[in-house]
Amino acid sequence: MPVRYDGPMVPSFRVESEYVPAALDGGSWGELEPLYRGLIDRPVRGAEDLRRLIHDRSELDAAASEAGSTRYINMTCRTDDPAVKAAYLAFVEEVQPRLKEVGFELDRKLAAAEGWEGLEPAVYGQYRREVVTAVELFRAENVALETELTRLDQRYAELCGQMSVSFRGREHTLQQMARYQEEPDRATREEAWRLVAERRLRDRDAVEALFDQMLVLRGRVARNAGFEDFRAYAFKAKRRWDYGPEECHAFAEGVERHVVPALRRLSASRRAELGVGVLRPWDMSVDPKQRPALRPFEGGADLVARSARVFRRMDPSPGGLGELFDYVARGGVGGSGAASGACLDLESRPGKAPGGYQANRDRARMPFIFMNAVGVQRDVETMVHEAGHAFHALLSRGTPVLYNRAEIPLEFAEVASMSMELLAKPFLDEFYTPAEADRARRLQAEHRANLLPWVATIDQFQHWLYTHPGHTRAERRGAWLALRGRFGEGADWAGLDEPQAYLWHRQGHLFGAPFYYIEYGIAQLGALQLEGAYRRDPAAALAAYKRGLALGASRPLPELFRSAGIEFDFSPARIARAWAEVEADLAALPA
Ligand SMILES: [Zn+2]
Repeated sequence: MPVRYDGPMVPSFRVESEYVPAALDGGSWGELEPLYRGLIDRPVRGAEDLRRLIHDRSELDAAASEAGSTRYINMTCRTDDPAVKAAYLAFVEEVQPRLKEVGFELDRKLAAAEGWEGLEPAVYGQYRREVVTAVELFRAENVALETELTRLDQRYAELCGQMSVSFRGREHTLQQMARYQEEPDRATREEAWRLVAERRLRDRDAVEALFDQMLVLRGRVARNAGFEDFRAYAFKAKRRWDYGPEECHAFAEGVERHVVPALRRLSASRRAELGVGVLRPWDMSVDPKQRPALRPFEGGADLVARSARVFRRMDPSPGGLGELFDYVARGGVGGSGAASGACLDLESRPGKAPGGYQANRDRARMPFIFMNAVGVQRDVETMVHEAGHAFHALLSRGTPVLYNRAEIPLEFAEVASMSMELLAKPFLDEFYTPAEADRARRLQAEHRANLLPWVATIDQFQHWLYTHPGHTRAERRGAWLALRGRFGEGADWAGLDEPQAYLWHRQGHLFGAPFYYIEYGIAQLGALQLEGAYRRDPAAALAAYKRGLALGASRPLPELFRSAGIEFDFSPARIARAWAEVEADLAALPA
């Protein structure tokens, strides 16, 4: 049943379960196994038995999943701690494969069970489709291959986590180096940029070799499941019921036609403003008026305090986004992973994995936000973005079916997060003077102009990768560079062939989450619609937003979009319309 938040926040949402003991160690197979056996052997005679089985399984799965995500969080927070890494790998290698096996037995039992007709489709309908599909796709021989893929991805995270450079007399993570791209002094930017590029290239062959292994393993996974290539498998495995490769290609063409020219116009005016003969990759993040870089906050606690004010102003209603954010912030800004109730680990430091994410701890029904904040405008965007995911987790956590909380389609999950980036724009004065806030809004619009072409690049690259099995590294390089030609930002990369050819090595999704990327484009077009609705009627748009989020994964994608008052549509026509609005926005901002 959809849950609406209209009361004061409760500090925790642990549900008492008659079947799963509160003290169960979800990371111990010895403790999990008898409970799973009990579920597999339990007779189901009709709807109420089926409902009970689904709820008990949800709670047991939640306990195991929480153990896994806690270990993952800790590992990404401390990639240099062997004990933390060993705990994560032990879970991945010893518990996860067994979970997949019992999970399959339970899926098969559920798919064949009597009683579905007696359960409410609005709560159980999507879950039923899910277990039927899972049974169809499951192959026992793929379990070991998937474990191996997870291990390779972990190796990739480790390689990236170890990358650092010595600059101006001290060691910097590559994430920390990003801020030098905003320095007015061009020679500093170039030096910093080249250092990072050279550092990445030092691991080029290791990353290429690791990726080659991944391609082979994925090809085998797909063939084992009876698909001709990994793309066909991935579309089914990602439950893409509402679109296929054709729509992705159309999206790419729409972006090429409507967004890339705008992006290159922005680059051309940047070049003119900077007064440089040619625009180089290290000229892309600096303020074209050579003003000092924006410094929106100092440190994680400051970032949280300012963000909290943004959400309180955006939605001060009881149970609104202001309260939800305060709830997430209550455990402090973190520094040691998922310990002691913390929901945040924000500041970049050596040994942390790159990037940002939001993870759920499914039993406590608590979100966790991981970031590498260093004090730039991009961090503000990431903070409100990941907060949107956390809101999704909190608003949908009342449902007893874990699937409805944990498997929200990414195309809509990213609407929840990207909308927050757009809806926060009027409140950026919490971080800036009015003039600086306009600068930040312009920067955001420029990031947006970069986003859709980059989404098309990464998505189209994957279509190529997985429909050209057995390709050589040289062919892969050629395919990537061709896409850079179609969708590139228009900077001059002369003499920088190597860094450009392996630019994709920094895109973690290609390694750990294949084919996950078009979702950002689909969601961006949804978020832009939501921003339009918010401009017309803020209260109604926020109510629709929360209504859509509270549904979790319980409805098909087009219905989730409709519940939030927007359309599931990423056609070239939608891109053209959305882009006209972004350009109007840009025109209204001081240059
Ligand atoms: Zn996201």
